[in-house]
Amino acid sequence: MAANTTTDWVDPVTCPFCGDELASPGAGFIDHIHDNADCEDGFDQWRENIAGDLAGEWTG
Ligand SMILES: [Zn+2]
Repeated sequence: MAANTTTDWVDPVTCPFCGDELASPGAGFIDHIHDNADCEDGFDQWRENIAGDLAGEWTG
């Protein structure tokens, strides 16, 4: 199995912030966070973490 060092997001059809099942991976998650401010907030923080980790390589 591939190592996953960036997140413990184990199931693409489950919201990692509230545990709700998503209508579909990806797009379903975007719809989900638009309807759930708490999840959107969690996603924003998660995304900033990832961006911070990659900032050194993505400068431009
Ligand atoms: Zn959620």
